[in-house]
Amino acid sequence: MYMFLPDIYKKSVYSIDYESLKNAGIKIILFDLDNTIIPVSETEPTKKLKDLISDIKLTGIKPIIMSNSGKKRVSPFKEGLVVDAACSSRKPFKRKYKKILSIYNVKPEEVASVGDQLITDVFGANRMGLVSILVNPISTNDFKKTKINRFFERLIIKHFSKRGVFERGKYYE
Ligand SMILES: [Mg+2]
Repeated sequence: MYMFLPDIYKKSVYSIDYESLKNAGIKIILFDLDNTIIPVSETEPTKKLKDLISDIKLTGIKPIIMSNSGKKRVSPFKEGLVVDAACSSRKPFKRKYKKILSIYNVKPEEVASVGDQLITDVFGANRMGLVSILVNPISTNDFKKTKINRFFERLIIKHFSKRGVFERGKYYE
């Protein structure tokens, strides 16, 4: 169960302390796309998001999009934000994570992963030994396949909150 527990929990990508991640030795941040950096209804990056990504680049951390969505969905963000991107990643499976670690020649502990889902983003990152960061989903609107994950996610959160280790809205780092 603890494989589903994030190392850090923040309200949104805008409340993460990127400087302190940098100081902790993080070189790459893998950003989930849908409902993490953009609502599922948006097809292009906003000005606010562009500014955030530029600020992260200035810290020396390399932001990369890692999405389970296909190329068509991911491309406008890859181009608009001028970042590298992995699409059809099949998180929480390890294959794409391993590929990324090898391409950029980084150790798992030098990589943080930011996402809005416990079952794909957090579980995938934890089993790889990355720093897992959970943020609240930007909108309550999800893709169909995500709705099933959300059902199981609610059960996991129930389990955690009974044990006092995690609760929605109680942020920590
Ligand atoms: Mg997502």
